[in-house]
Amino acid sequence: TKWVYTFGNGAAEGAADMRNLLGGKGANLAEMSSLGLPVPPGFTITTDVCTWYYDHDKSYPDELTAQVEAALDAVGEATGRKFGDEKLPLLVSVRSGARVSMPGMMDTVLNLGLNDETVKAIGADANDMRFAYDSYRRFIQMYSDVVLGLDHHEFEEILEDHKQLKGLTLDTEISADDWVGIIEKYKALVEEELGNPFPQDAKEQLWGAIGAVFSSWMVPRAVTYRRLHEIPGDWGTAVNVQAMVFGNMGETSATGVAFTRNPSTGEKTLYGEFLVNAQGEDVVAGIRTPQDITEKARIEAGSERPSLENLMPEAFAEFQSYCDKLEKHYRDMQDLEFTIEKGKLWMLQTRAGKRTAKAALKIAVDMVDEGLLSEEEAVGRVEPGALDQLLHPTIDPKADRDILATGLPASPGAASGAIVFTSDEAEEAKAAGRPVILVRVETSPEDIHGMHAAEGILTSRGGMTSHAAVVARGMGKPCVAGAGGLRIDYRNGTMTVGGRSLNKGDIITIDGASGQILSGEVAMLQPVLSGDFGTLMAWADRARRMRVRTNAETPQDAKVAREFGAEGIGLCRTEHMFFEGERIIAVREMILAGSEQGRRAALDKLLPMQRKDFTEIFEIMKGLPVTIRLLDPPLHEFLPKTDEELDEVAKAMNIAPELLRDRALSLEEFNPMLGHRGCRLLVSYPEIAEMQARAIFEAAVEAGRKTGAPVVPEIMVPLVGLKGELDLVRSRIDAMAEAVANETASTIDYQVGTMVELPRAALQAAEIAKSAEFFSFGTNDLTQTTFGISRDDAASFLGTYQNKGLIEQDPFVSLDQDGVGELVQIGAERGRKTRSDIKLGICGEHGGDPSSIHFCEGVGLDYVSCSPFRVPIARLAAAQAAL
Ligand code: ADP
Ligand code: MG
Ligand code: MG
Repeated sequence: TKWVYTFGNGAAEGAADMRNLLGGKGANLAEMSSLGLPVPPGFTITTDVCTWYYDHDKSYPDELTAQVEAALDAVGEATGRKFGDEKLPLLVSVRSGARVSMPGMMDTVLNLGLNDETVKAIGADANDMRFAYDSYRRFIQMYSDVVLGLDHHEFEEILEDHKQLKGLTLDTEISADDWVGIIEKYKALVEEELGNPFPQDAKEQLWGAIGAVFSSWMVPRAVTYRRLHEIPGDWGTAVNVQAMVFGNMGETSATGVAFTRNPSTGEKTLYGEFLVNAQGEDVVAGIRTPQDITEKARIEAGSERPSLENLMPEAFAEFQSYCDKLEKHYRDMQDLEFTIEKGKLWMLQTRAGKRTAKAALKIAVDMVDEGLLSEEEAVGRVEPGALDQLLHPTIDPKADRDILATGLPASPGAASGAIVFTSDEAEEAKAAGRPVILVRVETSPEDIHGMHAAEGILTSRGGMTSHAAVVARGMGKPCVAGAGGLRIDYRNGTMTVGGRSLNKGDIITIDGASGQILSGEVAMLQPVLSGDFGTLMAWADRARRMRVRTNAETPQDAKVAREFGAEGIGLCRTEHMFFEGERIIAVREMILAGSEQGRRAALDKLLPMQRKDFTEIFEIMKGLPVTIRLLDPPLHEFLPKTDEELDEVAKAMNIAPELLRDRALSLEEFNPMLGHRGCRLLVSYPEIAEMQARAIFEAAVEAGRKTGAPVVPEIMVPLVGLKGELDLVRSRIDAMAEAVANETASTIDYQVGTMVELPRAALQAAEIAKSAEFFSFGTNDLTQTTFGISRDDAASFLGTYQNKGLIEQDPFVSLDQDGVGELVQIGAERGRKTRSDIKLGICGEHGGDPSSIHFCEGVGLDYVSCSPFRVPIARLAAAQAAL
């Protein structure tokens, strides 16, 4: 078996399309090398080795050693050096790389191969001892941290102590001799902690690092990241071993990261940061504040420090040409890592760059204009869930701003919340329903859960490519990073800024668009959608088959949904209309009435109110389909709870409060979710269905006359399990339609259907379809009734189920395609068998969830229906599902 693939010198055994085997990093290093870009030579140990490793008690396949040795020799030949040699030693980096990038999750070791002897050779060769010792101390620290499991803080303390002693502030001010002393202390620390000296043998170092990369696949933070991003654990990681190039060889050397387009706005300009005389992670670690790559960015930022364009124009020009080349080659915005060693440029990584939703839209649309992508490809380039970000509020420009400080605008959107300083606190606050801003000096992968829980993230250190910035953009959360004026005191739970002190719990607002940090809560504006949004959505609409409707019961919601492109209402929950204002009293009268006559009297009061609502909604929807669900929830939900409320109703009904209380008690149920609700209520009290049907038909006639667009209401009977239930309710609806048609001297077109939300309804769909012109899969209840899990009580144990790997996702958020999905499939098939043109849709949370929408496309549903703000997401997801 071939376990090792080499690259370098304008050739490679691998290629970009081998990312499953080589990991993303390895595959792209191979591709760049084949394209003729200057990539330090190296080799990739495949993800198959990782799988083998875990299948075989953490050991390696027999052939691996020989293949690695041979590849090392090849790299040595390409560089004119030899691994472990004491005259011209080859140094390497050992880098992890899974199929998809997992930022910051896996640790890289640089400068491997250094020991007490080779460090001298490296220094002599470079004619720079300071550089050699700087590299060695970095190596000892990284290797001890990643491979030997020693805490890096202890090393940093040694370094800080030394700097303080010598009165130094920057690492770059430390001399070769100083480093020698520090290295001795580092080595002593290792020996003291581990009882063994720091490994001097290069081969031992190499295999230690390789093992550490494979082991790191299973560390908790990597496992957590995979769970959050739905990455299967059996993919494994590859290991890349690559000849070192040095950005820390003095003033003509540098290291940096860049995006080929602005990852926040999508603007087509090279965008990135670098540091002179630095190595590897220095740029993103926030140790020194990096400089801009282009002059344009430097000028815009008003920075005094020179840009790369200015400082090293030749390397910059070469880099820019590679950016263009790679973008055209991959036909996507790239995220790059590079290093300049004594003026010579080296490319160290390329991958599709993470971007905000706004940038994703702009880049997709621009690339169609540039002829790089087809419209359909562009539709596939924007992640539907990310559109949510565009719907985030921004700070009202007219609002008063009490600016505390300004940091970097690292991720757009604005958010207000109480200050918390730890991720655990953020999570607790979220659980208690309190919005918070997570304030950290910098964030690390251990903060992912806190970043998820917080409304926004604020850091005092780090640049636009710091961990906080990258992760926040990916999550679509506002983030202000590198606010240097901020002093954070974790111990006392305070932060001071510009002479003002704030405590944990104080409210602040961050503006991820400007980088401002503001005191208190600030007025926000709803977002306006850009032209790119409209363009891309139009392409999506052309590509999709399924219709997208919305769940709406108020005219306001209906209006918003129309603006977002809803093509009808898939679910109008009439009970929501019952709670408003004065109506609830009439509703309560209806429920508590002792006789049909009393009920009818109360229903008469409700009729005009419902009719008015329906008329308004029909008018807004201008002839688009509207599905109205008859009263669904158990009656006791509407009951008066306080004495005050009870008295109010008693007065309106002119009866004694005590009598009313007794009647209310008699309506209580042990398990209301499975109780007297849905069509069961309508079977018991058909007059309710009659009133609602009348309101719907009268409104349809009225709205049809007003707008000139005939209204064809779809009346939905909830919670049907037996065909007979539907027939009974349907007969009342049909009779009412005829009555209203006669009274108004008009013809009324309408449909009657049911919500499929009980397993029995799905199984009996063939029967039920005889009386139903449409089905809407009510997957919220269908999930409850299929699993036998109450949605309202699920939170206490579903989290445990997820952690223990019993379920991948909350089935109330993303459809359980195996179980609940099978019922949907059965319902659709059997319904169609009886009535080939039966209209099929889905309502409930799943109608706005991209992966559930994919499933619906597979089943061939006619439409999905979701909340107004998810309509754009559903349109895009439906398009992607159809492509
Ligand atoms: P990550 O996946 O966390 O980005 P990388 O493997 O890309 O980790 O490496 C971490 C840092 O080390 C990056 O800045 C990268 O450019 C740098 N680096 C990796 N390999 C080399 C090398 N052979 N020479 C110089 N720098 C390197
Ligand atoms: Mg990298
Ligand atoms: Mg339901």
